[in-house]
Amino acid sequence: MRYYPQPLGRLIGELSKLPGIGPKTAQRLAFYILGLSLTEINQLAQALIDAKGKIKYCSICNNLTEDDPCSFCSFHERDGSIICVVESPKDVIAMEKTGEFFGLYHVLHGSISPMDGVGPDELKIKNLIPRLAEGVEEVIIATDPNAEGDVTAMYLAKLLKPLGVKVTRIAHGLPVGGDLEYADEVTLSKALEGRREI
Ligand code: ZN
Repeated sequence: MRYYPQPLGRLIGELSKLPGIGPKTAQRLAFYILGLSLTEINQLAQALIDAKGKIKYCSICNNLTEDDPCSFCSFHERDGSIICVVESPKDVIAMEKTGEFFGLYHVLHGSISPMDGVGPDELKIKNLIPRLAEGVEEVIIATDPNAEGDVTAMYLAKLLKPLGVKVTRIAHGLPVGGDLEYADEVTLSKALEGRREI
């Protein structure tokens, strides 16, 4: 015997595929959704479809954006002489929250991880190189403070330094093995301030 009518079971099944959502939470969310009005359900469904359909990668920095180039790359008040390299779009948000960085970004969409079969070619590194010709003086590498983040930073330093740009790495005031996006603003802005040339 099935516990739930089939459509409800299917909804719970889909929700439980989301990260951090276990079967109990999926069930709670499904019941909550069932309690919404049809208008609210439509808004939710449309938001999902729009997010997927309208969000793309910025062709310059690879950040998620509705318009290409993204608001960072097209905003002329940003300091174009510094590029901060991060692993994910969530890290851009973390850096922005410090209120201390006014340069541009470059999002790699991952980190080098030989164990998982992720090499430099799987990351969005290629379109970083032509950007350096546009008056970039410093590249700050703000990959996560873990083994993969360190390997990625070393790889980038080797690649970029011969091109005559200063390459720095944010300080390790960050919790080791942690995730940049979970660092609080004060820790992250201290790490940014204490960056060192590599
Ligand atoms: Zn951009």
